[in-house]
Amino acid sequence: VLQRLVKTEKLQMVSHLAASISHEVRNPLTVSRGFIQMLANDISPQTRKDYAAIALQELDRATEIINDYLTFAKPALEKLETINVNEEIQHAINVITPLATMNNVQIQFSFTNQDQYFVKGERKKFQQCLINILKNGIESMENKGKLNIQQSYKNSILKIDIEDEGTGMTQEQIDRLGEPYFSTKEKGTGLGMMVSYSIIKGMNGSISVTSEYGKGTCFSIILPVNQ
Ligand code: ADP
Ligand code: MG
Repeated sequence: VLQRLVKTEKLQMVSHLAASISHEVRNPLTVSRGFIQMLANDISPQTRKDYAAIALQELDRATEIINDYLTFAKPALEKLETINVNEEIQHAINVITPLATMNNVQIQFSFTNQDQYFVKGERKKFQQCLINILKNGIESMENKGKLNIQQSYKNSILKIDIEDEGTGMTQEQIDRLGEPYFSTKEKGTGLGMMVSYSIIKGMNGSISVTSEYGKGTCFSIILPVNQ
C-alpha cells in the first residue's frame, strides 16, 4: 500500500508540473501570436519592427521554459534505470559547453577510473537536473570564471559538488531557491531549481547549497549509490 501511495504522489507531481508548463508556455505563445497578427495591419515600419521584436522575445521565453523542464515535462512512465553518474555529468557538460564558451566560463571536471558510481533513477531527468544546475552556475558568471565539478563517495553516499565563482546568493535568495517562479534574472523562468529539487527527491537524494554573496555558490547533489 505504501509503495502505491508513493507512486500516486509522483504521478500527481508529474501531472501538476505538466499542467503548469503548458500554462506557462501558452502565455508567451498567445502574446507572440497577437503581435504577429498585428503585423498584417497597416502600421509604420518602426511599429512593425517593435512588434516583431516582442513576438521574438516571447517565443524565446517559451523556449526557455521548455528548456528548463525539457524531459521532465514528459509524463514518462516510471522507468528506473541504473545510471552511470560520470557519463551523465560528461553528457551534461557537452550540452552546456556552448553556453559556457559564450560566457567565457571554463568547466573543470576530473575523475579517475575508481570514480565509477551508479545510481537508480530516470537518466533523462537526472540529466535535466545537472543541466539546470550547471546552467545556473554559468549564468552567475557572466564574464568569465570557473565551474568546478567534483565527486566524493563515502558510506554508500555519493556527493556531486558543482561550484561556481559567480554572484553568490543572499540568505533570502537561498531560502527561496526551488520556489516556483522565483528568479532574479531578467529572462529567468524560476523553474529550474524547482524541477531539480523534485528530480533528486524522486531519486531519494537531496540537494544542499552553500553560497556567499559576491563570491560564489556550491550546489551539492547527494545520492544513495547502488552497490
Ligand atoms: P532561473 O535560472 O530561471 O532564474 P532557477 O530556478 O534555475 O531559475 O534559479 C532561481 C534563482 O536562484 C536564480 O534566479 C538565482 O537568483 C538563484 N540561483 C540559482 N543558482 C545560482 C547560482 N549558481 N549562483 C547564483 N544564484 C543562483
Ligand atoms: Mg536556471
